Amino acid sequence: MISELQFFMRKLHRVTGPVLYWNLLGMICISLMEGIGIYMLVPMLSLIGVFEMGSSSLHLPWVADLLNRIPENGRLLLVLLTFVVIVSGQAWLQRLQTIRNTRIQQQFVRTLRMETYRAIIMAQWSFFLQKRKSDFNHILTTELARVSQGTNILLQMAASLIFTGIQIGLAFWLSAKLTTLVLICGLALFIFLRKFVKQAKQIGDQTSEYSQSYYNGITEHFNGIKDIKSNMLEKSHISWFERICGQIERNVIQFSQLNSGTQLIHRVSAAVIIAAFIYLSLHVLAVPPASLLLIILIFSRLWPRFTSIQSNLEYMSSMLPAFRIVRQLQMETAKSREIGGNAVASDVINDQDLTAPGPREPLIFKESIECRRVNYRYEGSDTYSLYEANAVIPAKGMTAIVGKSGAGKSTMIDLIMGLVRPESGQILIDGVPLTEERLLAWRSTIGYVSQDPFLFHTSIRENLRLVDPDASEEQMWQALQFSSSATFVRKLPQGLDTLIGDRGIRLSGGERQRLVLARAMLRNPSVLVLDEATSALDSENEQHIHEALERLKGQVTIIVIAHRLSTIRTADRVIVLDEGIVIQQGGYQQLAADSVGTFSKLLNMQADVVGQ
Ligand code: ADP
Repeated sequence: MISELQFFMRKLHRVTGPVLYWNLLGMICISLMEGIGIYMLVPMLSLIGVFEMGSSSLHLPWVADLLNRIPENGRLLLVLLTFVVIVSGQAWLQRLQTIRNTRIQQQFVRTLRMETYRAIIMAQWSFFLQKRKSDFNHILTTELARVSQGTNILLQMAASLIFTGIQIGLAFWLSAKLTTLVLICGLALFIFLRKFVKQAKQIGDQTSEYSQSYYNGITEHFNGIKDIKSNMLEKSHISWFERICGQIERNVIQFSQLNSGTQLIHRVSAAVIIAAFIYLSLHVLAVPPASLLLIILIFSRLWPRFTSIQSNLEYMSSMLPAFRIVRQLQMETAKSREIGGNAVASDVINDQDLTAPGPREPLIFKESIECRRVNYRYEGSDTYSLYEANAVIPAKGMTAIVGKSGAGKSTMIDLIMGLVRPESGQILIDGVPLTEERLLAWRSTIGYVSQDPFLFHTSIRENLRLVDPDASEEQMWQALQFSSSATFVRKLPQGLDTLIGDRGIRLSGGERQRLVLARAMLRNPSVLVLDEATSALDSENEQHIHEALERLKGQVTIIVIAHRLSTIRTADRVIVLDEGIVIQQGGYQQLAADSVGTFSKLLNMQADVVGQ
């Protein structure tokens, strides 16, 4: 746990640099001034005549000398003026320091946020396969906020410790014996209350657990809202939500009980100790009133510091799990970095490592993409999703990958795009293995249109500009034309500026897919990968996509994951997969003619379905 704190402290130091030391220096000044301001009460009170001020009680004979030289009525004024200057100066510095603290904290959190987000987004695809997306939301919002709070508490605690150290120094100077006594009492109480700090950490662990499942739950529920509504599952979801809200509430109350409990113990012990001191001083030790005042002064300055350190320790402990979770995620993402992954996760994530992959010089590719004896298993799975797969995809042709659901079509595509790496075997581009160094160059030649195309909730223009911010109006329309979407976009109320998505115009699945196809085309890809929508598109839409692909044939290498065989009649090549094995490949007509082969059976099956 301490290593986590060290890690973040080092990071904080790296992010803020010398400002951190200025901050500490500021704290020292403030605490000195605060101490002086308070201890000035003694000469003030003596001037007012509360008690006789001897040089012994002030420990500063030169101050007494100085004061004695000033005329009587000026003395009080001078002391009061100094008091006002010191206290106001301290307040002013305090304000500066609060602002600086906020700056440090915000700078740190911003860096941490950026670093975490970039590390996540730059991780390789296989990392996302094992993770729940809601966990990222949770970490980037709640846990990072807790780390921010924790850093603030840590800075406060550093200030508290410095204040306390200085006050202890001042108190020692006034009375070493009394201060030692107060310190012993404080230490004893701290040891007695140690277990509460541990408990605070356990409560913090639970806080993380509950907020994680809260995030996960709500994300899942809203993703599956249609199922919930249509199957009338609202009640069970509401009761889950009620339960988790209850747990969160209890967790927060539990911490408050713990924290206020130790505060109570501190306050009560303060009262008991001071009462005992006064009793002993007056009746047993016969201490003069000036010294007694000193005792009360020292005690009343030091004790609240101990109380706040105890409280800060508890808060800090409860935040530690958040530090651990953020650190863990950073380490995991460092291991899963797209390039140079498997690297040892270092403390310092190099900014350059995390720069987003910009457009690279595309990989020139002339002949073929080949899978050679490729084996692939998903993490944690025993069975191969692709086994000893050999397949050839010729350049500039249209290749269809077919097979039943779960046959391994998407896995093969992910391997070809380099999103996942084969366990053994190779992907060859023009006969040269696709290595890590060539991966990003390879991917910048690919345009991908997924089964469930993703468009942002913004205008069509903005969506297209995502791939090419400098795309001209003409280029956009050309891409739209290519993807058979120009006609329907023209009919939209604001054309290219029409908002699409949740809060905008609702597009059909086919229209969305064609827009994403246009977006992919803007990149001028030499390979186009299209995962055909499983949900049946209406025949007009299907026809549009078909036309678009026909238009591209001969210019671009097209790979289609075909769920309906009707769209791939014109494919140059068909690869048939079954349970992770390539069982047939060849020209469409050739495979269709092979009556014992799986492909002709698949064709017959679909014909039956259509015929029914
Ligand atoms: P297809 O695209 O042909 O429907 P996939 O390539 O998606 O098939 O899946 C091939 C096999 O790999 C299936 O048995 C599926 O259960 C398994 N699989 C797919 N994705 C994952 C995953 N993320 N984790 C574990 N197994 C997976």
